[in-house]
Order: sequence, then structure tokens, then C-alpha cells
Amino acid sequence: MNIHEYQGKEILRQYGVAVSYGKVAFTAEEAVEAAKTLNSKVYVVKAQIHAGGRGKAGGVKIAKSLDEVRTYANELLGKVLVTHQTGPEGKEVKRLLIEEGCDIKKEYYVGVVIDRKTGRVTLMASEEGGTEIEEVAEKTPEKIFKEVVDPAVGLQVFQARRLALNINIPKELVNKAVKFMMGLYQVFIDKDCSIAEINPLVVTGGGDVMALDAKLNFDSNALFRHKDVVALRDLDEEDPKEIQASKFDLNYVALDGNIGCMVNGAGLAMATMDIIKFHGGEPANFLDVGGGATAERVTEAFKLILSDKNVKGVFINIFGGIMKCDVIASGVVEAAKQVQLNIPLVVRLEGTNVDLGKKILKESGLNIVAAGSMADGADKIVSLVK
Ligand code: GDP
Ligand code: MN
Repeated sequence: MNIHEYQGKEILRQYGVAVSYGKVAFTAEEAVEAAKTLNSKVYVVKAQIHAGGRGKAGGVKIAKSLDEVRTYANELLGKVLVTHQTGPEGKEVKRLLIEEGCDIKKEYYVGVVIDRKTGRVTLMASEEGGTEIEEVAEKTPEKIFKEVVDPAVGLQVFQARRLALNINIPKELVNKAVKFMMGLYQVFIDKDCSIAEINPLVVTGGGDVMALDAKLNFDSNALFRHKDVVALRDLDEEDPKEIQASKFDLNYVALDGNIGCMVNGAGLAMATMDIIKFHGGEPANFLDVGGGATAERVTEAFKLILSDKNVKGVFINIFGGIMKCDVIASGVVEAAKQVQLNIPLVVRLEGTNVDLGKKILKESGLNIVAAGSMADGADKIVSLVK
């Protein structure tokens, strides 16, 4: 789960991690009122969306007066911001963060991540801050430094100090940087983050070390023990189809192809997407209905797939192990009754109660193309949508 920059900064502040001071605003009026409370002559008006790259896309504005704050707030609110992380459809700006202007001397990068190679929490930093860290990693990997955390003892002060020195934080500010990193790490651990990224971390003209940006992501599997974090969820930022899916415990990820997929089991769902691509098609989604799905859940899943306007055909690929084929069939028939099904539907059923499942589909009168195998099914749906 993702949260906004201003919410991330609030959490960091609670842990004594230095962040720039600011207030959230939902209207231009609130933006001006927020700016008035700041102890600054320069204000920063920042679009709050769940995506980075706002700076380059015009989502971060420096205002030199309250009038300018109002102008920028009006300009940004309601605007669809397209950054390299939003995809071409962009994201509508509904909230702003109004901050005190900051005298930036130098921008750095610092992030806490889980390194999949070592399976350990890793602190990463670079003196190439502000820009995309992915680009730094690709072009100048020697400029990224890492400290791997031993889970038995946690991040050690000497590691944070070594990292601060490696990225050339000015000597007299190393202690502040160490305090910052230790705090950031603690937030990551306490809140069950999957990523805690500060880009940029800045050194200011006044000799402060603080976060100008904050990106906190949380492990969804741990949210049950963080009610405070769940309360920060902004449904406006999430795909409505994925929200609907989460209500029914469906593992659904929206993609941009045109072949809807309904599969049981994550592995089979991945393989189904692969085989569709292999036959020259593009999946519209990943969907695992799970092992113990009821007919009602299958109905919801099917409706979800069809609610995607890009979907030009559906491929149902079921291997009934725990999942029974007749349950799937009943769910599909029920869903087809509730929504107009006027696009091709290819079904491959195998496993428990397969004959009963096929019988239900056949007697439903639905226009279904039966597939003998996975490859056959992929082949058929790809040619049908073409
Ligand atoms: P992102 O592009 O979505 O990652 O948004 P950031 O919050 O990182 O902002 C992008 C850039 O805007 C930063 O790298 C800074 O150079 C600049 N910026 C952000 N906040 C301030 C600020 O308070 N003062 C000044 N002068 N520049 C800022
Ligand atoms: Mn940033």
C-alpha cells in the first residue's frame, strides 16, 4: 500500500527524522491559508499523487508570494499530471502539499529497501540525488553505496556513518545524517514498509540534513497490525477495479491488453499470461480467483473482467484441484446472466468435476468456445479478438 508524500513526512516526523515543514491543502483557499502559517518567504506547492517524477512533470512549483501560491494551486488542482511513473493516462491532482521553501545546497538519495538477492533489509544511498535512482544504477553504479542489515542486530550506527561518508556528506553534518538514517530505518521496521525512499535528502545552506521528498510503501500482508497506516489509504489513487477485487479477496492486477483472463492459482495465471503473449495476444489483467472460490466470487471476478472497457475477449483457464469445475461454470453462467456478454469467451476446464462443469456451460446456452488445452485456448482467444 502506498501513501502520499505529506503523510509519509508526518510519520517520519514522529520518529524524529528531519523533514521540511508543510501542510496539506485540498483547495486553493486552503493552500493560501496553509502558506500563511509557514515561517517563510518562499513557498513550495507540491502535487500529491501516488507517483514520483512530479518535479520534471511540472508538479512542484516555487511560489514567491501568497498570490503565486493561489495561482499555482489553481493551476495544479484538477490537473492530470503525467509523469514517467503514472503511465500515459496520468493522475488527477486532488491534494497539494504547501511547504516552506528550502535553501538546497546539495541533493542526495537514501532509501531502505529489501534486497531480493540477499533477502535482507538494505540501506542504499548516493550523492546523485534528485534524479532518477534507476538511471544512476544503470549508468554509474559505482555511485550507489549499500549497507546490508543483519536482522539479528538491526542497522548499526557505524554502518550509517560509513554510508554517510561514502556519499560525501560534509564532515560536520555526518552526525545529523546518521541520526536521519537510523530514524528512517526504524520507521521501515516498525511500520512494516516494503520501501522507504527519500529522494532527495538535502543538505541546506543552514546546515540541516532533511527529507524534501518521502515515499513510503507498506507490505499489505502486515497492514492488519497497522490501523494507523490503513487510515491513510487514498482510494482515489487506486485502480477502481483493483479496489473492487480486494473486496472479494480476488488477486487482480489491471494490465493494458485486451484479453481478460480468469484463472485459478497464481502460477497458472502467470503461465496463462505468458501463453497468450506467446500466441501474439496481450492480457488485460492478471486474475487468480483462488483455490476455494465460491460461485459468487467467480461471478464477481467475471463481472470485474468485463468492466474493463479494453477487454475484447475472455479466456477462462481452470485446473480444478481444490477448485471444482462446476463451481466455476456456475459462477460464469450467473455472471453472464447479470451482464450482457457480447464478446468471445474461450473456456478450458480440466480436473475435478470437469464433466459436470462442461455440462453446465453447454446447457447455459452461452456462446462458449471450448478449448482442449491451454495452448489451444490461447490460440483460439487470440484469433477471436483479432
Ligand atoms: P518527485 O519529482 O515526484 O520525486 O518530487 P520531489 O519532491 O522529489 O521534488 C522534485 C524536485 O523539486 C526536487 O529534487 C527539488 O529539486 C525540487 N524541490 C522539491 N521541494 C523543494 C523545496 O522545498 N525547495 C526547492 N527549492 N526545491 C524543491
Ligand atoms: Mn523525489
